[in-house]
Amino acid sequence: MRRLLSALLVFLSGFAVPALAITAEQLATRDGEVAFGQAWLRNTRGALGERIDPFCVDVLETWLTRLKNHYTLGTMPLTGLCLNAPIFNAFAAPGGIIGVNRGIYLDLTQESEVMAVLAHELAHLSQRHHYRGLKNSERVSPGTLATLAGVVAAIATRQGQAAQSLIMGGQAANVSQALSYSRDYEREADRIGVAALDAAGYDPNAMASVLQVLADKQSRMTRELAFLSTHPLGIERQSDLESRLDQMPLDTPRPPVLNNQDFALFRCVQVEGLDLSFAHAASFDCESIHRVMQAYRSAEYQDAWEGWQNQPASVRNTLTGLDLTIAFAIKAAQFDTARDAIETMEVLFPSWVTPTVARLDLALAEGATDLPRAFREQTVERPERLELWRALSRFAEATRQQHFLFEARAWDALMHGKLEASRTQLTRARDQWPDALDARPLERLEETLSALERD
Ligand SMILES: [Zn+2]
Repeated sequence: MRRLLSALLVFLSGFAVPALAITAEQLATRDGEVAFGQAWLRNTRGALGERIDPFCVDVLETWLTRLKNHYTLGTMPLTGLCLNAPIFNAFAAPGGIIGVNRGIYLDLTQESEVMAVLAHELAHLSQRHHYRGLKNSERVSPGTLATLAGVVAAIATRQGQAAQSLIMGGQAANVSQALSYSRDYEREADRIGVAALDAAGYDPNAMASVLQVLADKQSRMTRELAFLSTHPLGIERQSDLESRLDQMPLDTPRPPVLNNQDFALFRCVQVEGLDLSFAHAASFDCESIHRVMQAYRSAEYQDAWEGWQNQPASVRNTLTGLDLTIAFAIKAAQFDTARDAIETMEVLFPSWVTPTVARLDLALAEGATDLPRAFREQTVERPERLELWRALSRFAEATRQQHFLFEARAWDALMHGKLEASRTQLTRARDQWPDALDARPLERLEETLSALERD
């Protein structure tokens, strides 16, 4: 326990994250939980190491949506975050926020296994573990506040279960108490998660495979990972699950969102640049894909394009393949190919942000200066998607349209909880906004910002 606490202090001091205190009362209603979760996200967003990758977020949110109906989550919105950390971890924060490290793709070889991780996290949300844990810890030590800086430290120090426990316990005196609850919660999340996994048409045995991956990691644990030893998986967690799986009648399987070839390619993209020798199942065949991506990153766009064309059509014609085709084709000036791929993706997934961002990048490459209408519409529908504002910022800089740049920066600042900076950028955007241009985007921004300023 002493080791846990000193590790915690070290990591806390390394993060300039405001300690957003949390009480059970704030989480007592679903609305309160969502408001708290969004405030937490704004406070910690900058420290999470987010990947600005619309395709990764679209796929993650599609997976989450597919599972969501099998829980009692009501109208709670789900926010998916793709994170850069190479360590195996995923977490659920109050209010439907699910973060996934790209490190999980080193170890998970099937979509069903990723779904098992997500199913477990969603179960923490549907069973209201944050609220129940916090309420229990307040009973033990009245008036104690957990701090969410602790949660961020836990996430950053690669401890999935610790994140869950710290959000419940937080203060030193309560950590051991929170941990004893968390073991029950872990089992409950496995049990609820496995039923949802089955109902969503995935092989529920995937949950057992994930626990096995974690058990193997735990046995190979280094000293730096000692933190994890205070949050054991527990042999009972695995055997409990296995006995349930034995009795479970299998639901009708449904095709995955990404087929096997697609998932293999998605994995290659996610683990680019990571040390593949750490992978649990060394089943990667990513070399030729990584070479193509390397050429692209070094701005050797024709080489990247040719390398991509040499990949089998069955690889290129996957969803992940479409995303890569768009990126490579735009830079190699293969505009018609890019346009076709964007249209295909729009037909398959009309609500995705990926093709909308791609339309903007294509417009830019073709020398357009007008904002594509589809892009503006998407910013109205999904203003919470940071990638849209980053894309607008890129477009504004390249076309020297200051008003768009200030608008994008205002949203970016707002989403990082920097309300004063957001206000400044909004004022600048107003000053620069052309008279002939529809000013409704500024009104929407004003509304969102003033609502946050009032809180
Ligand atoms: Zn858990």
